[in-house]
Amino acid sequence: MEQTTKAKKKILIAEHSGFCYGVKMAVDKAFDLAETSSRPVYVLGELIHNPQVIEKLHEKNVKTVKSVEEIPPGSACLIRTHGVDPEHIDKAQTKDISVSDATCPDVRRVQERAMALAHEGYTVIVVGKEEHPEIVGIMAHSRCIEGANIVAVNSPDELESALQGYSKSRVGIVSQTTQKEETFFQVVAEVAKFAREMKVYNTICPATFKRQTAAEKLAHEVDLMVVIGGKNSSNTTHLAEVCREIGTPAIHIETVAELTGHSDLEAAETIGVTAGASTPDWLVQDVLHYLESL
Ligand code: SF4
Repeated sequence: MEQTTKAKKKILIAEHSGFCYGVKMAVDKAFDLAETSSRPVYVLGELIHNPQVIEKLHEKNVKTVKSVEEIPPGSACLIRTHGVDPEHIDKAQTKDISVSDATCPDVRRVQERAMALAHEGYTVIVVGKEEHPEIVGIMAHSRCIEGANIVAVNSPDELESALQGYSKSRVGIVSQTTQKEETFFQVVAEVAKFAREMKVYNTICPATFKRQTAAEKLAHEVDLMVVIGGKNSSNTTHLAEVCREIGTPAIHIETVAELTGHSDLEAAETIGVTAGASTPDWLVQDVLHYLESL
């Protein structure tokens, strides 16, 4: 854990925070493609969940689109870190679109695990938000396996309705890479009450695990946590939740502007700072400079 020295308040930075290797790889790839391409580069869905980075990419002619239909034939297309439905890639290739894949290797591993479980005949449960792009991609990959049964749940309470009509006897479980460990373990424990056979892969990625563990450790030592990252970022939202769950208040912000004049800052003598896996260093530095000026 790092401590800034210029501040009047004690400011501690979590040991693991900010860009993970998967996000860094994807962002570097996008800037490289933009540099070498004379035409816009298209990304199917937001490359990462950070609006400020998406805006910078947009300035470099990297455009976010919702469907392959929006991409002109012969263009370059980049696949987001969360992965996509493989049908989109097939469709792009029929339009002579050159596809570069920035799916994080850890997300790819979950897709492969879920497909293997479906292939082995398990009813597959993905612990994550059904509408999250990573889950959409994982489920779409698994459905390529004939006879696959796959559902998503984001808490043990959702199991009963999600599994209606599916066999509960042989159950395979994987997790969204950015899921909270506690939630994953709760779902596994609940399934163990009814399944006769279970195959479980804890596919929470190491980057998420390290960020959550470091944030929780730091939250024990401070009066207030500042968590920086996209409001649409699951892993950042979970960082704030992890801090609040141990009783430390946490302010989730995207940029320093949201901190200005924030009433909670005044009373806090020790402030911890962490950032989600899709938060660039320049946003973190802006926040640290502000906290140092208090
Ligand atoms: S948070 Fe994990 S899965 Fe997501 S891009 Fe980073 S390393 Fe990959």
